[in-house]
Amino acid sequence: MTNLMLTNYCNYKCPYCFGVDFMFPKVSRKEMSLETLDGLLNWMDKTPKNKSAVHLMGGEPTLHSQFEEVVFKILERGRQIVVFSNLASPKAPEYAEKLSDFNISWVVNVNSPKLWNDVQNNRIRRALKTLGQKASITFNINPDGDDDMWAVDLIREYDLSRWIKVGFVLPTMTGSNYALEDEQYPVVAKKLINLLKNTQQYGIKAAFECGVPTCAFTDEQLGYLWSIGCTFDSNCDSRLDVSPEGLVIYCLPMSEIAKVHYTEFDNYFEAKKFFDNKLLPYRRLGRNENCFSCVLADSICRSGCVAKILLGAKNVK
Ligand code: SF4
Ligand code: SF4
Repeated sequence: MTNLMLTNYCNYKCPYCFGVDFMFPKVSRKEMSLETLDGLLNWMDKTPKNKSAVHLMGGEPTLHSQFEEVVFKILERGRQIVVFSNLASPKAPEYAEKLSDFNISWVVNVNSPKLWNDVQNNRIRRALKTLGQKASITFNINPDGDDDMWAVDLIREYDLSRWIKVGFVLPTMTGSNYALEDEQYPVVAKKLINLLKNTQQYGIKAAFECGVPTCAFTDEQLGYLWSIGCTFDSNCDSRLDVSPEGLVIYCLPMSEIAKVHYTEFDNYFEAKKFFDNKLLPYRRLGRNENCFSCVLADSICRSGCVAKILLGAKNVK
């Protein structure tokens, strides 16, 4: 259900980070207190018929000074945990080992290994070796980068989960990060299809991060995705994020549109309804002029990332 931001700081400084508007150093450094965590867990328990997993993210969640206490508090509530980590923090390999017997999955945000320094290389590889099938990797495909076959190599070397989650670098609604230009979407789509053609022999399947518009792909590429059972959709339907101090946001790129303390809502569904209603008028704007006459609009495609839509609509306040 909820993405809990345990920290608002990170050991990486990726230029594409879409959390920049809501994180240190743009705002002061914070981590979630155990009191706030307890309050949020009670709040989540008030949401009817919902016992879904808690996602732990940051910043970098393993930098939290009481990371293990946080994990055990959530497990005691009978909830599964998914940790979104770069595994390059000082304690990540140790946590991977200590927590390996528990019901925890790890989604590892990796940059190309060419960018790792020796210390990061050592930590990431140690942690991946421990986690094996409990870890899946996620990364952004860079229009100028290599062919990303290093992802396949990592999966095979450490026998990781046979899923990769790929992202197109999305913007913040304020345009504060490095993100893809419109003309780079087809370049990334082509690279992705080439990568997938190379993953099939190893049984690796792909899933998409949110916000990719359907027209990033040609009809032929969409047909290929369909033929390999890849469930592409253009969704922009975020699990809500909650900041270390308990502020609910739609997602990090949209943090500037509204931040509301969780106690203002009876439960998670009420918060979700609030943000869905708030964003509905902007979705109608479309991503560009083609959306107005596009047969896919409102059925298959919701124009991708609403932060990208708002960034393009400079006259909307
Ligand atoms: S605005 Fe939508 S698509 Fe963009 S990052 Fe947020 S949830 Fe994903
Ligand atoms: S609705 Fe807009 S973004 Fe989606 S496929 Fe059509 S033109 Fe592309």
